[in-house]
Amino acid sequence: VIEINAVSKWYGKFQVLNTVSLNVAKGERVVICGPSGSGKSTLIRCINRLEEHQQGQILVNGIEMNDNVRNINLIRQNISMLFQQFNLFPHLSVLDNLTLGPTLVRKMTPKQATELAMHYLEKVQIANQAYKFPLQLSGGQQQRVAIARALCMEPEIMLFDEPTSALDPEMIKEVLDVMLDLAEGGMTMIVVTHEMGFARTVADNVILMADGRIVESAPPEKFFSQPEHPRTRKFLEQIL
Ligand code: ATP
Ligand code: MG
Repeated sequence: VIEINAVSKWYGKFQVLNTVSLNVAKGERVVICGPSGSGKSTLIRCINRLEEHQQGQILVNGIEMNDNVRNINLIRQNISMLFQQFNLFPHLSVLDNLTLGPTLVRKMTPKQATELAMHYLEKVQIANQAYKFPLQLSGGQQQRVAIARALCMEPEIMLFDEPTSALDPEMIKEVLDVMLDLAEGGMTMIVVTHEMGFARTVADNVILMADGRIVESAPPEKFFSQPEHPRTRKFLEQIL
C-alpha cells in the first residue's frame, strides 16, 4: 500500500532524507529506529505530507503524494498519525474528542458517532473515562484516547512517531498492548520507536535510519542477531 521510491529532502542545504526507498504491504508492520536527527520523523511525516519531499516518489494505494490537493486528501483519508504528544483537544471531553472527526469529516449523525466512539474506547479499555477531560487522565490513558480517536476515522494505515516516549515506564506497556492488538487485527503500521521488545514481537521488518538513509532493513530475528551494517551493531549496543 505504501511505496517510497528514492525520496530525498533538504532543509536549506542540509539533506535530511537521502534516496530513501521503502515498500510497505497491506497488513505489514514496520518499526523504524535510529539515532536522534536521523530523519525518522521527517520520513513518516512525508507519507501524509506534513512535510514535502523534493525528489523521488511516494505512492499510497497507487496515488502519488504530490502538490495535488485532491491526492493529498484522498491519501489522508486512509492514514492516521499518532505523535509523542497526544494532541487531544483539552477543552473537549474524551467522547467529544472522538466524535468530532466522524461527525465533521465522515458526516455521521451524533448518535452514530457516539456509538463508534464508545466501541473504540472499549477497545482501548478506557470507556469508563468517556466523560472526563484529557488533562484528568494519565499520559498512558491520554495516548490510548488518541489511538481510539484515530481509529474512529477507520484508517487503513497508522503511522506512530515515538508514541510511548513521553510516558512513564509503567504506562508504556498499556499503550504498547493496544498497539499489539491493532497489529494482530491486521492494521498496516509504521512505528518509529526505540521499544525493541515491541519491534521483536510485532515487526515484520525493522529499519535502522542514520544520516537520512535506510542503513539496515531486516526481519527482527536477523536485525537483532545478525545485522549486516556496523552502524546497526553500534546502535544496538547503545540501546540494548
Ligand atoms: P528524533 O529521534 O530526535 O526524533 P528524528 O530521527 O525523528 O530524530 P527528524 O526530526 O526527522 O529526526 O530530523 C532530522 C534532521 O532534520 C535533524 O537534524 C533536524 O534538526 C532537522 N530538521 C527537522 N525539522 C527541521 C526544520 N523544520 N527545519 C530545519 N531542519 C529541520
Ligand atoms: Mg523524531
